[in-house]
Amino acid sequence: MMNKNVVINGIMGFIIGDALGVPLEFKKRELFKNNKVTDMISSDRTGIKGVWSDDSSMVIATMKSIIDNNGKINYESIMNNFILWVSNKDFIATDKAFGIGRTTFFALGNYYNKRCDRITECGMKGFNYNGNGSLMRILPIAYYAYYKKLNDDEIYNLVKDISSLTHSHKISILGCFIYVLLVIELLNGKEKEIAYSNVRRYKYTKYFDLDIIKYYDRLLKNDISQLNIDSISSMGFVVDTLEAVIWCFINNDSYDKSVIEAINLGNDSDTIGALVGGLSGIYYGNLPNKWLDCIVKKDYLLKLINDYYNCIK
Ligand SMILES: [Mg+2]
Repeated sequence: MMNKNVVINGIMGFIIGDALGVPLEFKKRELFKNNKVTDMISSDRTGIKGVWSDDSSMVIATMKSIIDNNGKINYESIMNNFILWVSNKDFIATDKAFGIGRTTFFALGNYYNKRCDRITECGMKGFNYNGNGSLMRILPIAYYAYYKKLNDDEIYNLVKDISSLTHSHKISILGCFIYVLLVIELLNGKEKEIAYSNVRRYKYTKYFDLDIIKYYDRLLKNDISQLNIDSISSMGFVVDTLEAVIWCFINNDSYDKSVIEAINLGNDSDTIGALVGGLSGIYYGNLPNKWLDCIVKKDYLLKLINDYYNCIK
């Protein structure tokens, strides 16, 4: 598994999932019940196919920072790239940046206006700032933790800091941590059911209080994949998003099926599509060429992922 393809498949799998989901974002699930979208379609917003959104832009900005710092994590550099994304339209698919979340926007404002003493205190702290905005950009950090062979304390501290750049609440940090642990299990070559079961067995009390862990009871105490899809929300609350992501990943047996199921949940379809696409790309590989080929700036992305792999491996 220690090869470049698993990085290309995960990151491009993520970006394809984002681009598949963009046209369906904010739409109600009922719309797709008898009318599933099963292919890349153009979005009303841009009129073209293969356009990815903020989720991919922030993943790209993070990878670019790690490349520019020769394989090191530098929080200022990552935040500066996020500012370039918002203000200078770097790291975007077309000439229109879209999709920045409210919490990310506020936190970048705190950073830009020097309102935080330490950079990891720029993130929003309140309960109402637990959208999926840090979860959606955590995938490059999972690869980093895997290739650098970080131990549990190092992984936890890194994920906490990276999430806290924008999302400081422990619920957000735990969501990112669970996703990173799951990615590392998959990179270690585990079957997905074993990977999920290992993630459920992890001793989260080492880092999190029970009143935070309880928000993830349906994912961690029980097997989320056994629930009926009608009880799985696909909204932007980080817990809801992660539930939907793991449900789609466990209950489907190919990359295509997983991401198609994910985007047809509606609501936050691009983020859920992207996060499912990341897991499924790593696990199955085999990204369909028909989708890969219509991704905007494909060659730029493949070069960037190649450079990223070379500096973290
Ligand atoms: Mg988005």
